[in-house]
Order: sequence, then structure tokens, then C-alpha cells
Amino acid sequence: MARPTPSRPKTATSARLAERISEARITNEFKRIVGAPNVSRLVETDLAAKVQTNTAETERALSIAPATAGEAREVVKVAAREGLALIPAGAANWLEVGNPLSRTDLILTTRRMTKIIRHEPADLVATAEAGTTLVEFQRQLASAGQWLPIDPPDDGRATIGGVVATGLGGAQAFAYGLPRSFVIGMRLVLADGRSIKAGGNVVKNVAGYDLCKLFCGSYGTLGLITELTFKLRPLPLETRTIIATGSLAALLAAGRAVISGPLFPVAVELLSPRLAEYLKAGERRSDYALLVRFAGASRAVVSQTAQALKLVRSDRDSPRTLDDDEQLWSSLAAVTLRLADNLSWRASLRPSDLGSFVNELAALERDEAWHPSLRWHAGMGDGRLRAIAKPPVYHREAVRALERLRQKAETLGGNLVLESAPIEIKNEFDAWGGFGSAAELMRRVKSELDPQNLLSPGRFQS
Ligand SMILES: Cc1cc2nc3c(=O)[nH]c(=O)nc-3n(C[C@H](O)[C@H](O)[C@H](O)COP(=O)(O)OP(=O)(O)OC[C@H]3O[C@@H](n4cnc5c(N)ncnc54)[C@H](O)[C@@H]3O)c2cc1C
Repeated sequence: MARPTPSRPKTATSARLAERISEARITNEFKRIVGAPNVSRLVETDLAAKVQTNTAETERALSIAPATAGEAREVVKVAAREGLALIPAGAANWLEVGNPLSRTDLILTTRRMTKIIRHEPADLVATAEAGTTLVEFQRQLASAGQWLPIDPPDDGRATIGGVVATGLGGAQAFAYGLPRSFVIGMRLVLADGRSIKAGGNVVKNVAGYDLCKLFCGSYGTLGLITELTFKLRPLPLETRTIIATGSLAALLAAGRAVISGPLFPVAVELLSPRLAEYLKAGERRSDYALLVRFAGASRAVVSQTAQALKLVRSDRDSPRTLDDDEQLWSSLAAVTLRLADNLSWRASLRPSDLGSFVNELAALERDEAWHPSLRWHAGMGDGRLRAIAKPPVYHREAVRALERLRQKAETLGGNLVLESAPIEIKNEFDAWGGFGSAAELMRRVKSELDPQNLLSPGRFQS
């Protein structure tokens, strides 16, 4: 813990001693709140490797796991009183997100807060604690024939708090929308330890500014989410996926034909050859793959698939259909987490500009010397692209390529966000690339809600 130096140290030795005594006092206070086994030194946990910071002071940082929102509130209050930097976490899959932290004193993980508080199938709403995994939540909902229609990057460990705090969706966001479209209420602990409630428990209760939206995608910088209420949807009765393989040009044209026609696919995803091979979707090593998924009532799925098959023409093999397609889509969602390659980034573009950006990327991909392991997938309906690679040996090469791609994305009116990279790359390449006119508004919201800059400091700073 990077504590302020006590006020009257007589010598350097007595200052260090006073600091240690104060650290021990605070650690004991945390142990009293959450129980001693739930307070660990960060360096002794596997979370240590996931925290990216440029300070050496994480050596004394703590990881704390409260069991209830009340305990979490007490921990945050002590942190605020002592001026400690606190990083909210769920399963800690992605704590290195954004720019390196400028300080880390405490990681507060919700992994013990896993209660599903209420599920009202008749109202299509459910409430759970933030540390509930998305997989467990979906399992509960499925028992009543319902689901939360989001498919963020996840290999089964992501918590609903983490998913909402990161705020992005996966391939099916094209049809259903992002997590924020489904959050109707939440409970939070603010930086000073106050608990607040935003939204409510019923679908039609929002008047005026919906505060919940502010916290979706806030990456642990504005408050700790302790509980979430979602609106739900009935599970589709049937799903089916068309898989077409072929050249980039043919599949871009096929994807465009599907999204501009009268059909309602839930996902239209283009896979790079290496990713198609990894997911066993491609026939040959050089093949790109196009996945088109339909979901809903059986008759609609059958007829929509038949119509789409006429549009999805490839220059190579005939497209095939997959009825039992759940595994394919969950493998796609897990790909970022399963691949050990730790350079990953995403771009957001107008769907009509995706082809131009993807052609630039394909040129990089052909350059074996630069990127022997680049894999990417792109949503043709919503212009979302995610790429994963092994970082090149010389980090300057990665920075140069990222600069070139960000410039291309920005020229097209889009953006490029670096999700995960070794710290030497992040130190030279801002993770977010600037927020334009939103930057001042973000700064004001942050200083209003967290004036001491204690929650995930540095995450959004360039
Ligand atoms: C390289 C990589 C890239 C990824 N890219 C994306 C992506 O672009 N979009 C996406 O949705 N998912 C992404 N993920 C997946 C992500 O890890 C999970 O889907 C999920 O969003 C995080 O769940 P978690 O419980 O592990 O959260 P954690 O990894 O613990 O936390 C992730 C972020 O959410 C904050 N957070 C977590 N819990 C809370 C809470 N209760 N209150 C407030 N803040 C909280 C943390 O401070 C941190 O900023 C990526 C994962 C990896 C490894």
C-alpha cells in the first residue's frame, strides 16, 4: 500500500516503522471486515501477473474478497479514509485492460458475491450479485426457458459485474444489442463508500437520465457494482449457422448481400484464415470463413436459412449448414481468452467501411515477418473487429503496425482500442486513442464521482 508518510517521523527508520505499523493496522481492519482468509498480499496471488502498473509499489498491495455488498462498502470506506487506490475486479480475466494503472493498493474482487437474488420468469427480469458468473446466471435462466442475450468474450469465468463494467458484446450484439441494453437496475458502492441504487427492478421504470448506462463500460473507474438487474428474453427455439469458406472478396460480398437483404440473422461474422482454421471452420489453410446465424422459431429459421443460402455464394466450396452450432459460437466468444497470445485490439467502424479496413489488415497478415500469428474476426452488420496476435519480438514493430491501423480506422471515422499488450507497447501506444469531444465530459464525471481519483487511477489517462 502506497500510504502517505506519517506526519512526525524523527528519522528515516522511525518513518518506515510508523508506516509498517499503520499498514498492519489497516490490514487488520480489512481482515476484521471480510475475515482473515479473504485478505491476501497481491504478490502471493495469481492476480499479481494481471495488474499492469508502472509503479513498483504493488509489492505491498492487497487482494480483498468481501462476501456481501455490506462488507464491500466497509472496505471501500476504509480505502477512501486512508487514500488507497482501489481496483474493482470480478474474475480478474482482464485487469490489464486500458492504460497501465498509476497506483494499485487494493484489488477488491467480487468472486465471493455470487447469489442469484431473484428471477421472475413472468416479468422476464432477474437480479444477481455482481460476482455471479455469466455462465451460471444463464444456466439458471435457461431452466425457465429464458436468457440474457449477450455473448461477450468469455471462457466461462467472466462475472456479470465484469461484463457490464467492460460493456462490450460479441457476435450477436448485431441483433440483440450490447449489455447496457439489458441492464435495468444496479446497486453500487461509490468511491467514498456510499451505496446507491440506479434504475429499478421492472422493465418500464426509467424516467429522465438512466444512471445505469453511465456505469456500463466504466471499467471500474466510477464505482463498484455490487448487484445487477437485467431484462431477459425467451431462449430461441432453434438456431442454425451457415458456414461459407472462400476468398476475402467473395465472402465480403456474400456478407453484404445477407445484411442488406430482408433477412434477420442474429450474427454475420467474418473469420480470418488462421481463426477459421483454429475454429475448424475453414476447408483450406488460406480460406476465410463467413458464419451467418439465425435463431428463433423453427419455421422462421428454416426459411431464412434457405433464403440466405441463395445469397451466400462462394468462389470455392458450397456453403454448409450446422444445426448444433452452440459450440462454434461459444468457442468464438472464448477465443481471446483461450489463445495465450497477449496482443489484442479491437476496431469499431461503419459496417460499410469494414471491407476497406479488412483489406489493410489482410495485407499485414500476409507479411509473415510482421505478424506470424494474427487472427481476427469481424461483425459485418455492426462493424466490430477484434484481432489477437503474439507480440513481435521488437515492440516498436507492433507499435508501428498499430499506429498504421489506428490511422486507417480513424480516417474511416472509426477507432482502434488496444485491449491487451505487454506494458512496453502500452507505454508507447495509448490504449484508447483519445476520446475527442467526450474527454472533458468524462473528466468532469470522474472528478464528481471520485474526486480523490482512487478508483482504477490511470485506466483512462493517456
Ligand atoms: C485480452 C482480452 C480482451 C478482452 N476484450 C474484451 C472486450 O473488448 N469486451 C468485453 O466485454 N470483454 C472482453 N474480454 C473479456 C472479459 O474478460 C470478460 O468478458 C469480462 O468482461 C470480464 O469479466 P471479469 O469478471 O473477469 O472482469 P475483470 O477482468 O475482473 O474486470 C474487467 C474490468 O471490469 C472492472 N470490473 C469488474 N468487476 C467490476 C465490478 N463489480 N464493479 C465495477 N467494475 C468492475 C474491472 O475494474 C476491470 O476494469 C477480454 C478478455 C481478455 C483476456
